[in-house]
Amino acid sequence: MSDVRNVIIIGSGPAGYTAALYTARAALKPLVFEGAVTAGGALMNTTEVENFPGFRDGIMGPDLMDQMRAQAERFGAELVADDITAVDLSGDLKSVTDSTGTVHTARAVIVATGSQHRKLGLPREDELSGRGVSWCATCDGFFFKDQDIAVVGGGDTAMEEATFLSRFAKSVTIIHRRDTLRASRAMQERAFADPKITFAYDSEVIEINGNPKLTGVTLRSTKTGETRELPVTGLFIAIGHDPRTELFGGQLDLDDEGYLRVESPSTHTNLTGVFAAGDVVDHTYRQAITAAGTGCAAALDAERYLAALT
Ligand code: FAD
Repeated sequence: MSDVRNVIIIGSGPAGYTAALYTARAALKPLVFEGAVTAGGALMNTTEVENFPGFRDGIMGPDLMDQMRAQAERFGAELVADDITAVDLSGDLKSVTDSTGTVHTARAVIVATGSQHRKLGLPREDELSGRGVSWCATCDGFFFKDQDIAVVGGGDTAMEEATFLSRFAKSVTIIHRRDTLRASRAMQERAFADPKITFAYDSEVIEINGNPKLTGVTLRSTKTGETRELPVTGLFIAIGHDPRTELFGGQLDLDDEGYLRVESPSTHTNLTGVFAAGDVVDHTYRQAITAAGTGCAAALDAERYLAALT
């Protein structure tokens, strides 16, 4: 077992790196587990980020994350590109185990493990991400002015994304596998009333086409098996997110959808000395700036908690 740390941070997206920056500047010498293959978080998989304040001309996602990482490191955060595979968060001393089996202990832990958008699982999906395929209308809608686009999904998020996108797009087709939507009545009514939105019911996407950019999708009828081409230059996949909370079940309180519960507006979880920030908590906003904001809050909450122990 290694020395007892003040604070261990699990996760390296905007929430984790911001928590690292603040706790490092508070001289708490945070130990940050960034993840083995996904260090830097969700923005490592995108191209241009135009809505993170401070970058007038936008910044590439990976560049933004490199900057955040370097800024945290500059003040003494210790960064480890490894996964945490087990945690014990119940006592006064929290322990986390890395992939080599080494156990690390700390008085406080900040969880910032993010969430994973669900994918369709189709071959070109990752390759065309940022080249027409997106999971975030708020982030990318602006790039699709006057274009024909499609949204996959039948829940509230899909309706919300579609009505938001119709402000920019020439047309929006909602692709849904069934003949009725899961979305709330109010969200459905908004989509039905929007003249730019049409519906492809009983349809599933079986191919994503285009090189190097998206040019269309192939749809198959879930009733007849017939296929057809839908020419679109944008495809927004809105079939849900999975918060990365599998490590914490049985220790930290989760809500019905598996997100960590915090004593909002603070970042305190149900266990003293354990704080949570970013998309692992947030169903609603899911933006880099909001994740960074709650990462800052978690650092300040942890700092106050540690100060009260002494
Ligand atoms: P994440 O960024 O998801 O980071 C979580 C980190 O935790 C990951 O690095 C992962 O490796 C690590 N982790 C998870 N489990 C473990 C573990 N067991 N051990 C160690 N580490 C672990 N937002 C915007 O504001 N503007 C945009 O333009 C924008 N574009 C986007 C484009 C795409 C393609 C996607 C997917 C998202 C985009 N977003 C955008 C949303 C934004 O990326 C997220 O809201 C934000 O990254 C959430 O930050 P986070 O720190 O909570 O989690």
